[in-house]
Amino acid sequence: MSKLFLCHYSEIGLKKGNRNYFERVLETNMRKSLARELPGSKFSIRKEHKRFLIKYDETVPDERVKSALEKVFGLANFSPVIAVEADPEKIIQSALNLIKDKTFTTFAVRSKRADKSFPLTSQELNVEVGAKIVEALGKQVDLTRPELTCHIEVMTDQALIYIDRFKGAGGLPVSSSGKVLVLLSGGFDSPVASYLALKRGAKCSFIHFHSYPYTNKFSQEKVIELARVLNQFQFNAKLYMVPFAETQEEIVFNCPDKLRVILYRRFMMRIAERLAKKEGLKAVITGEALGQVASQTLENLGAIEQAITLPVLRPLIGLDKEEIIAIARKIGTYEISSKPHDDACTRFMPRKPETRAKLHEVLEAEKMLDVEGLVNKVMEKIEVLEI
Ligand code: ATP
Ligand code: MG
Repeated sequence: MSKLFLCHYSEIGLKKGNRNYFERVLETNMRKSLARELPGSKFSIRKEHKRFLIKYDETVPDERVKSALEKVFGLANFSPVIAVEADPEKIIQSALNLIKDKTFTTFAVRSKRADKSFPLTSQELNVEVGAKIVEALGKQVDLTRPELTCHIEVMTDQALIYIDRFKGAGGLPVSSSGKVLVLLSGGFDSPVASYLALKRGAKCSFIHFHSYPYTNKFSQEKVIELARVLNQFQFNAKLYMVPFAETQEEIVFNCPDKLRVILYRRFMMRIAERLAKKEGLKAVITGEALGQVASQTLENLGAIEQAITLPVLRPLIGLDKEEIIAIARKIGTYEISSKPHDDACTRFMPRKPETRAKLHEVLEAEKMLDVEGLVNKVMEKIEVLEI
């Protein structure tokens, strides 16, 4: 015997010409997420009338299917359903059976017809099913705030009936928007920025800059752990570990103190861009927000991204720290980010870092460095981890 889950998507439904493409990516992601959550179990996914119907073995707990679907971006909601022949009498009987043991006093019936050849309109079906529930169970109709809603969706050869509807992750299917490279530090922000990029359909690769042996190995392990948690939304990823200490030393020895952090960041951008271009990644993502710390001014953000031509996206730009932390808690990165670590950028921190960088001063300072040479040297030492 098998059980069924019905899945609806939201934003994809608004797509016109390329809806098929988004549906295909979504279906692939659902398949992968289910295969990961239900190893060894058989299941099937069928698409019909802008919906997906998942059939799985009755021995599998619904919770497991729910857990797999919750992590798939692009789904608006999903529900455990029963399927019956698309016949008014059969629908009425099955709806009654489904709800008869539930505790409620008020209810509503909400029908939709994906197949308009069904003999009753949605409204007529609502009335018929509703009347039967009133008659057989003595319950009361309340269309504004019902305690229980009986949903009926009439498809071509069957009708689907359900009560519970779980909220999906929303957004667009991962990979449907292309691939990006996230600058992932061990802090709170960049994992949340990754999550938001994933939510908009961007498959994420990660790059982390460390100053080992000046910073400890623990910082790298923390970033690996964060990438693993983020992979719950995308299955697998590459994590590039960049040894950054030598570049930092060159900057410290040759450039004005107050510009150090901006120069570190400009090199991070250049290295990220090189990698991104090599790997077909179309944008760089950071966890910067506007004005969150003294260094995140428009002047500084501008001076940093001027180093490269690839788009730099900052999904957190308009979020408060509180909002960021709430997301971090929800996705499970908060605990990991809370662990102490020493960041590459806080090494050789000047006493008074620049808060409003002037581009001409930054460019002048960089003349003291062999920019190309430094970047080339680092590129050869990048370690790639498959997460
Ligand atoms: P986070 O919490 O993500 O570390 P933050 O508020 O501490 O952010 P900064 O330390 O100024 O802010 O870093 C801003 C952004 O620069 C980070 O969100 C991240 O995208 C990137 N970044 C900073 N340090 C590193 C690093 N060592 N490796 C990779 N990316 C980094
Ligand atoms: Mg940081």
